[in-house]
Amino acid sequence: MMSFSRRPKEEVPEVETNVWSCTSDDCQGWMRESYSFAAEPKCPLCQSAMAQEVRVLPEMK
Ligand SMILES: [Zn+2]
Repeated sequence: MMSFSRRPKEEVPEVETNVWSCTSDDCQGWMRESYSFAAEPKCPLCQSAMAQEVRVLPEMK
């Protein structure tokens, strides 16, 4: 019988997710589209305009 230890860490599947990304080059701000309620949200960090993009992120349950 094979004996190996399984890590207790759960693997979170990654999915393509629509996000809003800050358009400022100096800012790393972004948020999940599903978490934003405004049609055109402002960056929470620097108040710049945000642009939609798709990122591969851990799936939210
Ligand atoms: Zn920003």
